[in-house]
Amino acid sequence: MLQKQYEKLGISEKVYRFGRAVENSLAERFLSIDETAEYNQMKVISAMQKNRVSAECFNISSGYGYNDIGRDTLEAVYADCFGAEDALVRPQITCGTHALALALMSGLRPGDELLSPVGKPYDTLEEVIGIRKSKGSLAEYGISYRQVDLLSGGSFDYEGILKAVNGRTKLVTIQRSKGYAMRPTLSVKRIGELIAFIKSIRQDIICMVDNCYGEFVETEEPISAGADMIVGSLIKNPGGGLAPAGGYIAGKKDCIANAAYRLTSPGLGKEVGASLGVIQSFYQGLFLAPSVVSSALKGAVFAANIYERLGFTVIPDGSESRHDIIQAVELKSPGALCAFCEGIQAAAPVDSYVTPEPWAMPGYDSDVIMAAGAFVQGSSIELSADGPLKPPYAVYFQGGLTWHHAKLGILKSLQKLYERNLVNIDEVC
Ligand SMILES: *Cc1c(COP(=O)(O)O)cnc(C)c1O
Repeated sequence: MLQKQYEKLGISEKVYRFGRAVENSLAERFLSIDETAEYNQMKVISAMQKNRVSAECFNISSGYGYNDIGRDTLEAVYADCFGAEDALVRPQITCGTHALALALMSGLRPGDELLSPVGKPYDTLEEVIGIRKSKGSLAEYGISYRQVDLLSGGSFDYEGILKAVNGRTKLVTIQRSKGYAMRPTLSVKRIGELIAFIKSIRQDIICMVDNCYGEFVETEEPISAGADMIVGSLIKNPGGGLAPAGGYIAGKKDCIANAAYRLTSPGLGKEVGASLGVIQSFYQGLFLAPSVVSSALKGAVFAANIYERLGFTVIPDGSESRHDIIQAVELKSPGALCAFCEGIQAAAPVDSYVTPEPWAMPGYDSDVIMAAGAFVQGSSIELSADGPLKPPYAVYFQGGLTWHHAKLGILKSLQKLYERNLVNIDEVC
């Protein structure tokens, strides 16, 4: 019966059976993912109950947004959820990059230095910092930047970090997820070790964590590992697929106050900012987020195991513990990369009938192919995949609001590769 449903969606018996076999081997992994989701679900509900979330919180505010109880309560809920003193959760924060820029620009002053002890930060931050020359960068305001790369093997270069910290070092940025780099993602525990080391050099250095793609993957968030600020996007994990836009910063009271004065205006801070009718989706998305993240994680683990068994290099590998929702698969040829993305697109609830094509994109030195059929434009907690058309033809894929949709997407990608003779399923069955 179930197989018939998959058949209707173009999944052949061979691909279905292979998927089934891989899924059956993952029962224990899935159980542990479910346990984390359960823990985090209780955390979210506790935070909502403690802050007395009520129907009144869903009212729409307009204009200045003074005394918006929905917005203020949501920020208290986020703070409790992430173990922080305070939070800024706003639709006026346009995306993850904006939230990170806000955290950096509000924490740094002319003459200060920013340090990344975990190598090059996410692409879009290069222009925020001024690593690549750009208008309005931190560099233009006289804020310098230093970077210490991870050692080969991925460990922290403690000696290099000790040398890099100086009297001007004001803020340290730590990216939890590997993003599009090939280094391992950092666990909350490892982030804690790094922060402890930095604070042992100088207690007053602000430690900020780029938490994108990491929320609810573990039972703890980096605040409990000593971070002063964590930063993320609402169209990734914590928005649960329902938030239509937005970003957040959670952390120490004075860090959040600085960020609020930078976001709105000195003197106004958190007290203005109408929620314009999106606040209910922020609450509801946060409520669903632990479960949505667990679906995305199952999809990532499933894909890793499918493609690993077929002989591809997958990062993280099929059995590694997870600290974010991103999965990379090195597909080895442009044909396989395109087939994979076509499969993800064809499995989408939205725009399933379009065919993704490789195209030149700003900031990339090769064509890029992207697959996404999302309810919220650009949302990467929804199932999506992309990759640059250059060796090793790696596809980065993430998301899935439900595990069953993620599963269909991965089977569909495999179906496309199978039909084009780019994989040999018979050999591994
Ligand atoms: C997505 C992401 C960002 C940027 O977020 P946008 O919403 O795309 O601007 C920054 N850092 C990491 C690690 C990310 O994954």
